[in-house]
Amino acid sequence: MADLDTQVLVCGGGPVGLVLTLELASRGVPCAIVNESETVATHPQGNTMNARTMEHYRRLGLSGAVREMGLPPDHPTDLTYVTRLSGIEIARFRMPSSKEKMAPGSPDLKVTPELLHRVSQMLVENILKKRADALPAADVRFGWRLTGFTQHSDHVEAKLEEAKSGRTETLRCAYLVGCDGARSTVRRALGIRYAGESAEDRTYMMGRMQSIYIEAPGIYDVQANPISFHLKVLNPENRSAFITLDGKGKFLVFTKLAPGEEVSAERGREIARSQIGADVPVKVISAKPWTAGNALVTDRYGEGRVFLAGDAVHLFTPTGGFGMNTGIDDAANLGWKLAAVVQGWGGSRPPRQL
Ligand SMILES: Cc1cc2nc3c(=O)[nH]c(=O)nc-3n(C[C@H](O)[C@H](O)[C@H](O)COP(=O)(O)OP(=O)(O)OC[C@H]3O[C@@H](n4cnc5c(N)ncnc54)[C@H](O)[C@@H]3O)c2cc1C
Repeated sequence: MADLDTQVLVCGGGPVGLVLTLELASRGVPCAIVNESETVATHPQGNTMNARTMEHYRRLGLSGAVREMGLPPDHPTDLTYVTRLSGIEIARFRMPSSKEKMAPGSPDLKVTPELLHRVSQMLVENILKKRADALPAADVRFGWRLTGFTQHSDHVEAKLEEAKSGRTETLRCAYLVGCDGARSTVRRALGIRYAGESAEDRTYMMGRMQSIYIEAPGIYDVQANPISFHLKVLNPENRSAFITLDGKGKFLVFTKLAPGEEVSAERGREIARSQIGADVPVKVISAKPWTAGNALVTDRYGEGRVFLAGDAVHLFTPTGGFGMNTGIDDAANLGWKLAAVVQGWGGSRPPRQL
C-alpha cells in the first residue's frame, strides 16, 4: 500500500462528519476532517436529537453534555396551534418535559435510558468539535476545503485548500468519506445524483422557506397561553412556526417565502413581530433561506474507496426531524465498519460489503 498521511479523510464538519470523526478517532483510527468554514454552524437548524442519536452520544460519553444544553429540563414540550403568540389558542398537544420523562420510574425509560432531547444542532456541533479537537487520532482542520480527489487501487489522493491563505496540500488516505451536505463536492465528483421528490410548491412547509433565528425575551410577557416548545401560528396574514430554543427568549421561526421575496433581517423582524402580535423588541440573529419538502435519496452511498453520508446522500423535509438524525446513524454505522477494516478485525471483505 502507498504511504498514507491518514487512514480516513472526512470531508465536512457538520454533525455527520463530526460524529464519524469521533467514531473513528475514539477507536484509535488515524483520521482527518476538513471543513470549509472556520467554525461550526451558527444558525440553528435541527432541534431534535432523537433517542437513537442520544444513545450514540451516550456511547461517545457526550449525552450528559448534550442534555445540559437546549430546552431546560422543566420546560414543557407541548405543540400548540395559535392565531398569534399573544392571540387565541386553537389546540394543544400536551407532551411531558424532559424532567418528567427522565424521572426515575418513568415508563419512557423502560424503552431506552436516552430519550429524545430538544437542543439546537449548532450547540451540539460545538460539543462534538471540542471532543474531536481533544482526540489525538483526529487531525481537525476547520477552514480547509476539499477541492478534488483521485481514487487509486489502494488509496485515495485528496486535494485540500486552506480558505484563508489559499495554501494547497495533497493528502493520501485509505478511505474518503463525503459528509459535505446537500451540495456535496464528493457526491458530484462521483457522478451520483439524488432521486425522489423535491420541493413541490405548496402554501406551507414546501418549496422556498425562510428560517429566522431571533432573540425576543419579551414574548414571555405577552404570550396569552401557557408556554410550549413548538407553536404553529395561523392567521389571515401568514402562517409560521416558532421553535423554542432555550426557554429564555431565543426562537427559530419558519415561514414561507412569497414568490420573488428574498430573505433579510429586516423582513424577518417584521414577520416575527406580526406573528407575535404585540409590540415587543425582536433581534434577528440570523436569517437563511431553505427548501422544504424534499424526499431525496441517492441510489449508491459511494464508490470504491469513497463513501457518502448524511445530507450528501439523503434530504428530508424538516418535519419529524429525520435529516440530521438519519445522518448521525449513517456515521455511527460507517464508523465502526471502517475501523474494523482499517484495524484488521473486520475480515477480508471490503468495508462496503460488511
Ligand atoms: C430549517 C431546517 C430545520 C431542520 N430541522 C431538523 C430537525 O429538527 N432534525 C433533524 O434531524 N434535521 C433537521 N434539519 C436537517 C439538518 O440540519 C441536516 O440534515 C444536517 O445539518 C445534515 O448534516 P450533515 O453533516 O450531513 O451536513 P451539513 O450540516 O450541511 O454539513 C456539511 C458541512 O460540510 C462542509 N463542506 C461542504 N463542502 C465542503 C468541501 N468541499 N470541503 C470541506 N467542507 C465542506 C460545509 O461547510 C458544512 O459545514 C433541518 C434543516 C433545516 C434547513
